[in-house]
This record gives sequence, structure tokens and C-alpha cells, in this order.
Amino acid sequence: MPSQTAAIQWQQFLNKFQNTLWKVLDWIFPPFCPGCNKTGIRLCEDCRSSIRRISDPICPVCGEPGNDSSICQDCLNYPPEFDRLRSAALFDGVIRESLHRLKYNNDIGLGEILAPFLVEVSASQNWDIDLVTSVPLSNERLRMRGYNQAECLAKPFAAMIGKLYAPSAILRIKNTKSQIDLSAGERRENVSGAFYANSSQVVLKSVIIIDDVSTTGSTISECARALKLAGAKGVYALTLARAPIRTDR
Ligand SMILES: [Zn+2]
Ligand SMILES: [Zn+2]
Repeated sequence: MPSQTAAIQWQQFLNKFQNTLWKVLDWIFPPFCPGCNKTGIRLCEDCRSSIRRISDPICPVCGEPGNDSSICQDCLNYPPEFDRLRSAALFDGVIRESLHRLKYNNDIGLGEILAPFLVEVSASQNWDIDLVTSVPLSNERLRMRGYNQAECLAKPFAAMIGKLYAPSAILRIKNTKSQIDLSAGERRENVSGAFYANSSQVVLKSVIIIDDVSTTGSTISECARALKLAGAKGVYALTLARAPIRTDR
């Protein structure tokens, strides 16, 4: 589709332009590594290599690390709405600190540095992807923070894999409370019916949802439910980090 190709090229151009802007800003305000505070670098090699990547054995559906490669008990008890979920790394050390800075310290240039970890995982999966989107924030939280940290990862990710980023493919239609102190069941309840997907953007498309952290995958599963209701043919999801329950945000 020529218009879609033009849209992807435009997004890639904007992404490059933004990168140039970061470089100028880095020159004026030198960045520092989120792991060791070394100045002049966004993520140093030592800290990069300390990141604990998630590898097999994992649950083939939700990607939860486990003792073997069979479907985990959670996926058996409550089959998720997404087709596959994978996460790049464990939510600790440098990744935890980087995501904290991305989320609360306006260090949005980190999205560009962290997105290649997502590209690496998606490249290893052979997923057929048409469209990239991200988990939306509530309007209230978006107003407070000024940006969506999932979008900071999704936008460069889409540009890097040459796919269209559709920020409004999923809309949040219900305000939900923070999932931090909730059990798995409470999390499912909390996000139930919270999302609506835009059928004109996703019908018959294979969509990938990007988020910063997943714990039980309940938010992503609910986003996937909305996408499938709107006619998406496949829903994949990628998060930068995987957190144990009760410590993610
Ligand atoms: Zn460092
Ligand atoms: Zn699972």
C-alpha cells in the first residue's frame, strides 16, 4: 500500500530527526548512564552487559521464565487473549533504573537506547507483524506525566523494524487503579473492559503491543481482547521487562 509505505517512511524520518535532536541535547546536557552514573553516555557497555536477558525455558504463550518449556499454570487456568507475549529482560538492576528514569525523570531519550532490546527479541520470534501499537495511559496519567513511556519504546521500535506505529489503535476507556498491590485475580478485574480498539486501524491486521513492564500480563491480555473484538487477526506483545508480582510499578 503506497500510502502506508509513505507513512512508515515519514515516521522513520521523524525518528531520525528526533535522534539528531537528542545528540544536540546530549552535547549541551551530557547524559549519564542509568546503571553507574558515568557521564557522557546513555548506557555504558558494562551496564549493558549486566542486563539479565530472559532465555529458555519459558512458557511458550506468556513467556514467563520457568523450569521447563511447557505452558504455565496461569496460562492454563486463564488463557490469555494475546497469541504470544515475550519480555527482553528481568526487571532488576540497570533495566529497573532505566525504566524508572524513562517513566518518572523525563529521560525519554532512553526509549531509543532500550528499543533495540525489543527488536532483538522480535527478530528471534518470526512473528508476522503488520502494525505496532502500545498500551495506552489514562488521560489523567498522560496529563500528569506529559508522555506515555510505552510510546517512547514503541515509536523507535516501529521505525527500527520498518512497520507503521499506530498510537491510537487502542484507547483506554476506563480509568484503572495502580496494579502494584493487587493479586493476579484483582489485576484481571481491575483492567477488565478498560480498553477499546479502533477497528478501522486493526481489522485483519496482525498487531504487536509494546509496553515497558509486564507482570501477570493482564493489561496486555485485556488490550488483546479489545484488538481481537475489533477484528485483529493476530496479537503479539513485547515488553522490555518482566517483573515478579507486587514489585513492578
Ligand atoms: Zn553504566
Ligand atoms: Zn504462561
